[in-house]
Amino acid sequence: MRRPALSIVVPCYNEEGCLQALHARVSAVAHAAVGDDHEIVLVNDGSRDGSWRVMQALAAADPRVIAINLSRNHGHQLALTAGLDLCAGEQILIIDADLQDPPELLADMREAMVREEADVVYAVRRKREGETLFKRLTASAFYRVLDRVTDTPIPLDTGDFRLMSRRALDALLSLPEQARFIRGMVAWVGFRQVPFMYDRAERLAGDSKYPLAKMIAFALDAVTGFSTAPLRFASHVGLALTGVTVVMFLYVVGSFVLGRTVQGWTSTMLVVLFLGSVQMFVLGMIGEYLGRLYVESKRRPLYLVADIAGPVQGRASLGY
Ligand code: UDP
Ligand code: MG
Repeated sequence: MRRPALSIVVPCYNEEGCLQALHARVSAVAHAAVGDDHEIVLVNDGSRDGSWRVMQALAAADPRVIAINLSRNHGHQLALTAGLDLCAGEQILIIDADLQDPPELLADMREAMVREEADVVYAVRRKREGETLFKRLTASAFYRVLDRVTDTPIPLDTGDFRLMSRRALDALLSLPEQARFIRGMVAWVGFRQVPFMYDRAERLAGDSKYPLAKMIAFALDAVTGFSTAPLRFASHVGLALTGVTVVMFLYVVGSFVLGRTVQGWTSTMLVVLFLGSVQMFVLGMIGEYLGRLYVESKRRPLYLVADIAGPVQGRASLGY
């Protein structure tokens, strides 16, 4: 199979209002970089709006557009996986559909890739425009907590916006897990990876597709995928509580020897409630890992493709 010089992969969920502008800007920078020798892979992640219609129109008008229609909403990371599986380029740019990540940075990122002899140029958010204080604070806290608990160093304030070499992408695609936290998985594969600072723009149209519940699920995938620290938490708490128990024991025995009895509905209730909640919390954490183990063991396909518009002959098989 002949590989184009550049693939641009875009996961899209209800991005009707962004797609035309996205195509215009991405197509312009791709032409400037490699001429006609590129492809734009748009993945429709079960959108409820007219995104798929717009994609089909784009694929009909521009032979370099490949539009993939997933069978339903599989989630951002799996939609991205579908696009990455199907793309064929020597270099791969991952970008969001909402133009928060300026495609115009492509030239500088390619330049950095050559200059630094890197396999991955990942874009680090210096500023985030037009996002709520809540989003900025939670995102910032998330990357810092993740950095503390994971064994793999995952770059701070870095989304999926990045330029990758074919060998780095092939390495990434060899990781089979269902719960995919792609920015961490890319960090895990190694090779030479260099940061690239940029200011994140405001979303062009529509709202964020990451409500709080999705953000929490995403964060849990990240932590459980890259760290077993929460499982060790139970033994640490257990050890600390044993220390507290020894002190309490001495206090109670001492009081008894001195002929005083320790009173106590309040203290008993506090201890019971405290221990109960710690145990539930730890149980919940074990459950998070156990649930993921169960999902992995089913070995279902990561996503299913319903339709494809555009030139895709001879591409890698779809599915796992
Ligand atoms: N997205 C997707 N499937 C989903 C949710 C999001 O393909 O279930 C895409 C979305 O269209 C966008 C990218 O993932 O291209 C990032 O989503 P969004 O911009 O809403 O996230 P935010 O920038 O607010 O974190
Ligand atoms: Mg966005």
